[in-house]
Amino acid sequence: MKSSRVLHAIMSLLLLMAVGMPYGTASAAAEPASGKTYQIGTDVTFAPFEFQDASGNFVGIDMDLLDAIAKDQNFKYEIKPLGFNAAVQALEANQVDGVIAGMSITDERKQKFDFSDPYFNSGVVMAIRQDQESIKGYEDLKGKKVAVKTGTEGYSFAESISSKYGFTIVPFDDSAQMYDDVKTGNSVACFDDFPVLAYGVKQNNGLKIVTDMEPGASYGFAVSKGKNQELLEKFNAGLVNLQANGEYNRIKEKYIGENAVGPVDQSRWGLIVESLPSLLKGLGNTLLLTFASLFFAFFLGLIFGFMKVGRNKWLRGLATVFVDIFRGIPLLVLAFFIYFGIPQAFGFTMSPIVAAVLTLSLNAGAYVTEIIRGGIQSIDRGQMEAARSLGLPYRKAMMKIIIPQAIKIMIPTFINQLVITLKDTSILSVIGLVELTQSGKIIIARTFASFDIWLVVAIMYLIVITILTKISDRLERKVRHG
Ligand code: GLN
Repeated sequence: MKSSRVLHAIMSLLLLMAVGMPYGTASAAAEPASGKTYQIGTDVTFAPFEFQDASGNFVGIDMDLLDAIAKDQNFKYEIKPLGFNAAVQALEANQVDGVIAGMSITDERKQKFDFSDPYFNSGVVMAIRQDQESIKGYEDLKGKKVAVKTGTEGYSFAESISSKYGFTIVPFDDSAQMYDDVKTGNSVACFDDFPVLAYGVKQNNGLKIVTDMEPGASYGFAVSKGKNQELLEKFNAGLVNLQANGEYNRIKEKYIGENAVGPVDQSRWGLIVESLPSLLKGLGNTLLLTFASLFFAFFLGLIFGFMKVGRNKWLRGLATVFVDIFRGIPLLVLAFFIYFGIPQAFGFTMSPIVAAVLTLSLNAGAYVTEIIRGGIQSIDRGQMEAARSLGLPYRKAMMKIIIPQAIKIMIPTFINQLVITLKDTSILSVIGLVELTQSGKIIIARTFASFDIWLVVAIMYLIVITILTKISDRLERKVRHG
């Protein structure tokens, strides 16, 4: 079959590309020093501390500060935009060497992490929708919902007063989603750090601040307790230098000073056009992830599928266990387990791309196993019996009689699996892979344009899935008739 060879070649190529696929945004110091490249986890959406500018660069007070410190202290680093909660978990699991994400130095965190000297003072405030007049303080929250961001000081604060004031907490993974929940009116208020909310309000995020700042902890750069001490020392030393030579103030001024850039007045169409390059890059990563994972899933499926229809009961049992486990665990849980759990338990580092491909391959592998088993078993038993009675050995009967018929039955379900796996890649945004969904999130964090960007993202998925389905249909027709 010529088409299958072509398909195989394409898959192999994609796989090769996938191995070299970039994740996150690399942003190394200009003068690369020799030695280790530190992996630094950060939030995706915490302007003015970390956010992406229109050309897709990670900017903000934290980002510029880290960059300046790395240059001053001559070390290399790579940024992993994981989201706050995930970044902290990644640090705990030693998946990253440090975290800079407007991270408050709290006593609780000091048990697990070592912090740099504080570099920014902060505290939690409450914000509500701009046009909302009835909420003036915590007392007005009774019976209402309040949006918070998981794993943050704002969350802990909301939790600590929720029973006193009688409100319910609605948790979100990033600040942009939390603001959106308030804007749509599902939650009446949200809690977030003052400098971040104040910046957002200035950028027209549709909210207003209604309380005074609660006394809070300052921000620090964190490493795992007892680990990467030399990095911590470099950070502190660099910070002192930048504070002394005025660079620290320049960075702060750039984002929150008098002359800081205000919101850019941009048409909706202009915004979409400007976002397209980042979204297309994300889409490319989505496709690479899909094909690389399906490639491995197919191998797993072949092995376990044949084990399932085979005559050895031990192998059959093993294949059943494989399917039950990986079909039974929700994809999100599997991704967290593989990316955060396993490295923490065994003390090694796994890149997000490896974790993502592993997660998707195991999950899709379980389904492909079932597709292959189902396909083979759907061929009438009489066929095998007839082949055997004609003197064909089992293996040959399988290869010559059963499999060719089974393949035709399996193809539509394979196409289905391709579509499912492609959509499932969006779940991997939780471990910081900048695929299409994550690219959308990052742009919304900067622009607050949820409707337009999610619409474009949805259309992009639809277009790609339609094209792939059409190609697959054509392939299927060829296999059936030729
Ligand atoms: N300063 C808050 C905390 O450390 C929030 C940080 C963030 O959301 N990036 O909990």
